[in-house]
Amino acid sequence: MIKPGTSLVLFIIVLILVYLFLPWKGIFFIIITLLFLTHLVYCSANICSQAYINTFCKANTKEKKIAITFDDGPDSKITPEVLALLDSYNAKATFFCVGQNIADNEELLKSIDEKGHLIGNHTWSHARWFDLFSSKKMKTDIEKTNDHIFEIIKKKTKLFRPPYGVTNPALKKAIKNLNFNTIGWSIRSFDTINSPEKTFKRIKKILSSGDIILFHDNQQHIVEILESFLEYARNKNYEIVALDELLNIEAYE
Ligand SMILES: [Zn+2]
Repeated sequence: MIKPGTSLVLFIIVLILVYLFLPWKGIFFIIITLLFLTHLVYCSANICSQAYINTFCKANTKEKKIAITFDDGPDSKITPEVLALLDSYNAKATFFCVGQNIADNEELLKSIDEKGHLIGNHTWSHARWFDLFSSKKMKTDIEKTNDHIFEIIKKKTKLFRPPYGVTNPALKKAIKNLNFNTIGWSIRSFDTINSPEKTFKRIKKILSSGDIILFHDNQQHIVEILESFLEYARNKNYEIVALDELLNIEAYE
């Protein structure tokens, strides 16, 4: 993977070469600039690009272990249904919670923790334009969530997932001293846009050992998807474990 700094240097070198040696400079300039910008967008939009922040996206294991993660909750109606399903299959998951959703769901957060699942930080606001915040504003938003989680479960989470999976230099700076394990995914379920059938069919096709799957526990049809998925995983002898076990990392300080 070419880092953004390296691609900037390459971009400048190629521009100079084009300027010195090639005819039709205008067209080449446009093509090279578009390639450079596409690369920058890819680096930011792909959480596993490792361009700005080192992220865990999949475990390197041959053991039939996988992890499931839920973003954007907790949700007072849907998260309890998800927890009941996980219980019935003896599966442990990781919940990347949005701080402002925890505010009215403190007991629910405690219950997630008491059932042996992990809790991660998914920012306080999950703002639509979070990626454009200054690093200072990002840091405040993220620390507020960690403080609130700590107040409730008395544990300081080390698990962080950026909103929308977007990383950039400001976020890198914001989390520099926060000692997080930043978590991506290897399977994005697309449970927010696809039907339950399509979502499940797609996951089934690509699932393999070490996968980290991204679900959302604020989507009504997640319960239907999850039930099919848990049944399938059990039949295929996959063990569903929390992220700390899958990745051999610490979830809390
Ligand atoms: Zn999210």
